[in-house]
Amino acid sequence: MAIDETELKTTELIMKDLSFGVVFDIDGVLMRDGIIIPNATQALKLLEDKETGEPKYPYIFMTNNGGFTEEEKAKKISIVLEQEIPGDKVMVAHTPVKPLAEKYKDSDVLLISKTHETSKKLADWYGFKNYKSFQQYIEERPFLCPSKYSKFWTTGVAGEYDIKKEKTSEPLPIKSIILLEEPNDWGECIQVVSDILQSKDGLLKKNHIDLSEEQIIDLHVCNPDFTYGGEFLLPRYTMGALLECIKLLFKTQTGRDLIYTLYGKPYPLTYQYGKQLISDQISKLGFQNASIPKHIYAIGDNPYSDIKGANNLEHEGWISILVKTGCFKGDGNHPEIPAKYVVDNVYDAIKLILKLEGQ
Ligand SMILES: [Mg+2]
Repeated sequence: MAIDETELKTTELIMKDLSFGVVFDIDGVLMRDGIIIPNATQALKLLEDKETGEPKYPYIFMTNNGGFTEEEKAKKISIVLEQEIPGDKVMVAHTPVKPLAEKYKDSDVLLISKTHETSKKLADWYGFKNYKSFQQYIEERPFLCPSKYSKFWTTGVAGEYDIKKEKTSEPLPIKSIILLEEPNDWGECIQVVSDILQSKDGLLKKNHIDLSEEQIIDLHVCNPDFTYGGEFLLPRYTMGALLECIKLLFKTQTGRDLIYTLYGKPYPLTYQYGKQLISDQISKLGFQNASIPKHIYAIGDNPYSDIKGANNLEHEGWISILVKTGCFKGDGNHPEIPAKYVVDNVYDAIKLILKLEGQ
């Protein structure tokens, strides 16, 4: 009986000192093309209390996808993983822009995504009060993209457009552009973003732009991925490739280097936000005294995003673990961006973490 009590006290001591968290990449680690990877469920179960099924160790999910809220993404992955994942354990590419709603509360923000509805949904979700969706902005200024909207080429009448602008109240100056997800029309996006970034205030009218000699308007870009795997044999371009086009044309036009902030793996803002979410999870589990994790284990399949991002912040306690169930399939470690540890799959990754942490 006395031994049991000692064991209990030892366990309590270990639990009080618990100060680590796990960050899962999703695609290539837990699922592939929406199908669960073998052992993923068992891996997550290792992080639960065996008897109650309640979470025992803190973990979150981090993806470079976007265009949906964290709640929506949580529901999607809950279906595949066959377990309830709460939205506060999920980070998408644009999750770290949430604090920008407060930063830009007194000025307009231009939100760029595939549809007006997506921008509106995310603006409401993150709390942006003053914003224009990209689609609204163009509707009010079709003269910015004449090759697409001007009827001049068909009717011969200049100044007539295929979209009618709605009368709106005088807009606030634009302080910031946020690329939430890759828009459908790159040409339109590159043109209008370049126009706004050359202005002092984003107040573009047909006969007016206040040009600036320096970049005053902030540009935030969520998801730095250059390509993604589609149904075609060759990868498809996405946000990172679009950003390269904007950078090149802005430089050609102004002679200046574009200034921007990137969110998503492997960039530090995303990892720092993830560390905060892990801290929140530690507090929720009742470990107030150890809410800043000493170690955060990032499990991923992509050396260039998951592993690179964690390695860059090794000094802040991040530890990279590369799995072989996704894009990395080589023997040994990645030659250019070696992970701290390489394991076969996510189940082995969790077993390794628990062993390293003495659990
Ligand atoms: Mg992945």
